[in-house]
Amino acid sequence: MTVEVDTVIVGAGFAGIGMGIRLARRGDDSFVVLERAADVGGTWRDNTYPGVACDIPSHLYSFSFAPKHDWSRFFAPGAEILDYLRHCALEIADRLRLGTEVLDARWVDDRWHVSTTTGDFSCATLVMAVGRLSEPRMPPTPGIETFPGEAFHSSDWRARDLAGTRVGVVGTGASAVQLVPRLADEARSVVVFQRSAPFVVPRPDFAYSAADIRGFEQNPRSRETLRSELFWGMETGFAARVGLPGHLDSLRQTARDHLEAQVPDPALRADLTPHYEIGCKRVLLSNDYYRTLTLPTVTLEPSALAAVDGERATAQSGAHHDLDVLVFATGFLSTRPPFARRIFGRDGANLADAWSGGMVAYASTTVHGFPNLFVIDGPNASLGHNSAIVMIEAQIGYVLAALDDDAAVLEVSLEAQRRYTDDLDARAADTVWLGGGCESWYVDASTGRLTLLWPDLAYAFRDRLAEFDRAAYL
Ligand code: NAP
Repeated sequence: MTVEVDTVIVGAGFAGIGMGIRLARRGDDSFVVLERAADVGGTWRDNTYPGVACDIPSHLYSFSFAPKHDWSRFFAPGAEILDYLRHCALEIADRLRLGTEVLDARWVDDRWHVSTTTGDFSCATLVMAVGRLSEPRMPPTPGIETFPGEAFHSSDWRARDLAGTRVGVVGTGASAVQLVPRLADEARSVVVFQRSAPFVVPRPDFAYSAADIRGFEQNPRSRETLRSELFWGMETGFAARVGLPGHLDSLRQTARDHLEAQVPDPALRADLTPHYEIGCKRVLLSNDYYRTLTLPTVTLEPSALAAVDGERATAQSGAHHDLDVLVFATGFLSTRPPFARRIFGRDGANLADAWSGGMVAYASTTVHGFPNLFVIDGPNASLGHNSAIVMIEAQIGYVLAALDDDAAVLEVSLEAQRRYTDDLDARAADTVWLGGGCESWYVDASTGRLTLLWPDLAYAFRDRLAEFDRAAYL
């Protein structure tokens, strides 16, 4: 039996839950939210490694339409964000279909036919809200099958007692800098395999006092003011990304001072000094990562993991490290999302093929050849300097405006999509993401295009998507 609804939303993380809530609040109840996992929460459900937290301030990393006055800290721990999302999802509990994985979605006879592990759906509109951090990247490691201990990805944390163990961590991204200090608290020793050094700046975290929380509760205006201040404060971070004089130097100096203050050993400091411009990769926030690397029980291996033979891990440098546990904090398949392989649009075109030259979308949301498909948090919709939730809300608003249009079928024209992409490429050209001398997952490796990030201020994205531009559609 096929279930008929107006809209199918795929994914129950921030984007999917937010989309569902906004639909429900306008009285639209002909939708379902399909989620392959047994719980909502997306990245915050999957990432439970020790130390997991958000490095965007809590009051900005939450929906403007579902505010929470009692965030415990300036930067919320992961578990608190998951609780928040679970609470938000209660509003659309009857629309959630958990444990339901989309196998494929096909546009036939002006409808999407979605086949899943629990049954089929037919809908006019398909909203992909699966996030960009949902498919772990596990680098192929020769000999990994001979490793006698546990080897797993940071987003697949398996709670265990690490006391007395020798742990290796591969990768030095946002996840690694959070988990390495916590592992060092517990394990007998930790080796960090660093392919390239990240820039790390101080993390101005603090706990909100009971008085703060009462104030936010009694005076919602103060919460809104804070949110606005945080948003505009973070917007200034964009100046460094486009290399405005002074801003880049000042950000780089902050990171250098932080390294100098926490790492007295010049040799270790040299290994921890990045060889590219700051901001080219995500700038990391940590007060204890550098300090942890100076502990006698912690070793920085300044090269990537090359191979494993039994318990012996060999780095590119030729150094050996004997380990009991291996954690791959190696990021996610973001530029080539596997879900695209499962989407078939007009005339059977496959989304992964349409994106074979890198992800593209008009308004970062709609794709030529894929009528009535909306992709949230997909091509050019992420940020390196401000909150992802602001972007998700802008895209949700755009989808709602499209749904209000009279046309039953909306397909963006190829010309509009090309113009939009050309415009983004022009904006990206002078940014540190393309010119900063690093390799990052913001950039599509095969084409060199910046396909993940929106290369401008967050408010420019909000403005750009504030109206549904019907003329761009066939
Ligand atoms: P990531 O930023 O992609 O970092 C992956 C790390 O693994 C990098 O150091 C990378 O080295 C290394 N790596 C990847 N493939 C490798 C290989 N084949 N051999 C050796 N090293 C390899 O991943 P992540 O740390 O999981 O973070 C992903 C994203 O999640 C972040 O950028 C951020 O958007 C989000 N996140 C956010 C927070 C938050 O607080 N908001 C916290 C955690 C994660 P190279 O640098 O040399 O490529």
